[in-house]
Amino acid sequence: MRGGIDLGGTKIQAAVIGDEGSVVSDARRPTPTEGSPEDVAAQMVEAMREAADGAKLESGSLDGIGVGSPGDVDEKSGTVSGARNLPGWEGSFPLADKLSQALGTQVRVGNDVQVAVNAEKKLGAGRPYSSFIGVFWGTGVGGGVILDGREWLGRGAAGEIGHMVIKEGGARCTCGRRGCLEAYAGRGAMEIEARREHDKGTKTDLFKIMKKKEHVRLTSGIWERAIDDGDKLAEKLIDRAVKALAAGIASAVNLLDVEAVIIGGGLGVRFGEPYVQKIEKRMIKHLFVDDNPPAMHVAALGDFGGAIGASLLFDETE
Ligand SMILES: [Zn+2]
Repeated sequence: MRGGIDLGGTKIQAAVIGDEGSVVSDARRPTPTEGSPEDVAAQMVEAMREAADGAKLESGSLDGIGVGSPGDVDEKSGTVSGARNLPGWEGSFPLADKLSQALGTQVRVGNDVQVAVNAEKKLGAGRPYSSFIGVFWGTGVGGGVILDGREWLGRGAAGEIGHMVIKEGGARCTCGRRGCLEAYAGRGAMEIEARREHDKGTKTDLFKIMKKKEHVRLTSGIWERAIDDGDKLAEKLIDRAVKALAAGIASAVNLLDVEAVIIGGGLGVRFGEPYVQKIEKRMIKHLFVDDNPPAMHVAALGDFGGAIGASLLFDETE
């Protein structure tokens, strides 16, 4: 059995993964909002130990633990740098070494989006296709491109669908540029916008729900709750996100003509099929060839795609 840890912008998901990618047990922790990479690593260790406990084994007896991490990942050394959505993580941090020491087994680190796309390709919604785009709608908007059955990495930085420009001179993105898809659809950007509107006096229950749930961020669950309650600001911002995703995805499809688009990530999985249909409807308006749109799917591995994909870093068939 292997371990898999998905290091997300709001939560750390750890799981013990059996053969064929089945989830044997799992545990989660909120991602720290302050502190340093050491604090994040400590929470990852706790989550992984708890997941191992649930499977009645020691973390050290796992055949290996894979980690899907945001930021710049050096797979060889296991270091992660410039993870902007994590606290104090501007520099470089030896994540694999730290986790390996604490958990007593070998640890490999891969890019969070790449491992999740690989999991969907091998075990999830991407199996029937030789070409698809994976769109991970979460704290940021990540993307992966599969062409002719292989992940297209370009010169190393391909797939950044979140930074497709959907509005020249538009909203400020966390990357420092303007008008990116992520600046409209990323959970982080939506939270900043919601706060700005709230401070301006716009009525919304988003922050009330957040306090009640004792969270410090507007998690995907909070957005869902607000939408269910008919919160006007939440509806407006989610609708804006849907339009932005539709424009970005349509542009990518116009360029690559892939067979399918698979939508995952915290918000993507949470909102699921009805919202994938909304994105599809808006997307078709932008398609150059609109009578043969790609198939649209929710990521089949759901919330566990990242952890399962991370465990595949130890797949012998790779
Ligand atoms: Zn950007």
